[in-house]
Amino acid sequence: MMKIKESCITSLAAFVLLFFCLNTSAQVPKKIRTIIVDPGHGGTDAGAHGEYEGTLGSLEKNITLAISLKLVAELKKELPGVKIIPTRTTDVFDDVNKKAQFANDNHGDLFVCIHADAVALKTGSRIIGYKTETYTTTRYVGKGKKKKKIVTPHQREVPVRQYFKIPTQRKGTSTLIFAANKTNDKIKAMQNSDNLFTTDNDDSTLNINYDSPEWKANALLYTQNYFKKSYKLGSLIQDEITNMGRENLGVWQREKGIRVLSATQMPAVLIETGFIANYEDERYLNSEKGQQEIAEAIAKAIKKYKDQVENPKILGQPENTTSNNY
Ligand SMILES: [Zn+2]
Repeated sequence: MMKIKESCITSLAAFVLLFFCLNTSAQVPKKIRTIIVDPGHGGTDAGAHGEYEGTLGSLEKNITLAISLKLVAELKKELPGVKIIPTRTTDVFDDVNKKAQFANDNHGDLFVCIHADAVALKTGSRIIGYKTETYTTTRYVGKGKKKKKIVTPHQREVPVRQYFKIPTQRKGTSTLIFAANKTNDKIKAMQNSDNLFTTDNDDSTLNINYDSPEWKANALLYTQNYFKKSYKLGSLIQDEITNMGRENLGVWQREKGIRVLSATQMPAVLIETGFIANYEDERYLNSEKGQQEIAEAIAKAIKKYKDQVENPKILGQPENTTSNNY
């Protein structure tokens, strides 16, 4: 009895030690060398489309591509030493799993996915004229075998209605990060990684046993770290959205998992740049000015994020002279 208890304590102590060691190694700052920019949708998958009355009829896949290409150009200009890789540069469709795999194969340190929002629209109607409609009434006369059915036609004027979709009042930008309850998916995605547990100070190749408690503990730490980093980047992006005077709709975890966010082995954000279903937002998202402003705001946030991740807070230094650790 005693022996079992002792061995439990020893195992627990070993695990705590392991946890501490892994936690320490996970804190070693990692340089941002590769950023993957993913324009949402493409090809046969148009994404959301403008469907309200007065819409420009825009397709999400074109807006995401236009903003992404501007973002890629902006990042290349602002971060010359960093590889900026778009998942597509033309109107082609790729499965989200393939995109995630592409990001993993290219050893991305950050995954930035560009989308535009859509909502289910209410239908309105208006009277555009009247038409004559014929209807009938039925009555019976007589009794028994002499009972007779008399159908009388009548006419009436009825309105002719035109139905249309009402644009949403919702506008602004939000950022989605992978849901915390999808951690297992993120861990599974890591099982294909060959560079996962190496940092700039550790280039050793590890012989990974995915069933080992060490691997699982380490994977969990890394996913938690990715979560924090994704949230950090999301917050920085949303701050820039506020700074540019756009409506900041915040950082969200979507209840339903977003495959492309959970399948990437790196911090990942999905930016809903604006609402195609909103009159002003649709025009803004389609304008050169709007696309450029959004791209610049995101690039600015990524640059801040990179600085903060690569220059973590050093203990003992005053808060305002150092940047955050994640
Ligand atoms: Zn989308």
